[in-house]
Amino acid sequence: MIVAALALSAMLAGCNGSQTQPGSNPQPQPQPQATPFQSVRDGVTPQPVPVGALKINADKAWQYNKEVVGFGSRPVGSEGHAKLEAWIKSKLKNDNLEVDEFPIDSPAGKFTGRNYIAKFPGKKDGIIVIAGHYDTVYNLPKAFVGANDGGSSTALPIAIADVLRGKPNDGYSVWILLTDAEEAFQKWSATDSLYGTKHLAEKWKQDGTAAKIKAFILVDMIGDKDLDIDEDRNSTPWLRKVVYQAASDLGEQSHFFVRPNEIEDDHLPFARIGVPVVDIIDIDYGYNNVFHHSVEDTLDKESEKSLEIVGNTVLETVRLLNQQ
Ligand SMILES: [Zn+2]
Repeated sequence: MIVAALALSAMLAGCNGSQTQPGSNPQPQPQPQATPFQSVRDGVTPQPVPVGALKINADKAWQYNKEVVGFGSRPVGSEGHAKLEAWIKSKLKNDNLEVDEFPIDSPAGKFTGRNYIAKFPGKKDGIIVIAGHYDTVYNLPKAFVGANDGGSSTALPIAIADVLRGKPNDGYSVWILLTDAEEAFQKWSATDSLYGTKHLAEKWKQDGTAAKIKAFILVDMIGDKDLDIDEDRNSTPWLRKVVYQAASDLGEQSHFFVRPNEIEDDHLPFARIGVPVVDIIDIDYGYNNVFHHSVEDTLDKESEKSLEIVGNTVLETVRLLNQQ
């Protein structure tokens, strides 16, 4: 689950009102002006993408999304979750796969969570992480299959792994991360959410991995037919700009960053330890986000084209980061 705040200008009106000097006549003070939100959309000119640049296999990404949904509901501790874990392991088994196990102490009880990390080495010193969560919400009816919320965020990173596999890489190493227990067990809060990434960010901070991460690129709910990626203010501005440049290079910028928002998602634990992060998410899923965390989150609300647009934008982002 994701928490979003839309009332931006109201929130930005801070308490920096000017003070009256002692002895002076109090005058009506002008209302403090809200700082206008500076979108990264300004000042980006599309650049030509070289022939042969990496592209997603959209048919496969879509096939993966269908297969993941075929496991049914996939909350931590469920049969669907266990089946999906076996599926993820089978897809990434030849990719230096690391299984990162961690304890979960949730309002619904204790569980063991597992993040999966596939590693594609590069020649440049540094790591780009491409991440998505594979669990679905815990306390929803079994009919909830999370085609978009959980399904698309599992399918796309694995389809990106397919593109990277077996290719020489002169750029940064790319790690594909499938995160567990992103969702709340009872009700989304600072403590009941993001279990897998809170654990992993702490681990990577301790072992020095975090300092090597050049960019943490998160994808979530990216299968919506009506693709409209939020400009997340909790994401690092310069990295947001690279993503917008990538989308513009591909002629897909109309799907990106028209709506400013603030998103709580798996990128936050890494942002807090100083890693550059971006969340690529469309939190307007159905009219007024009505399909989000609803049994209506099914494959017919998604499109292969949306997975293709986001997948190719992520790959172009990686190409641009390697040029920096
Ligand atoms: Zn969710």
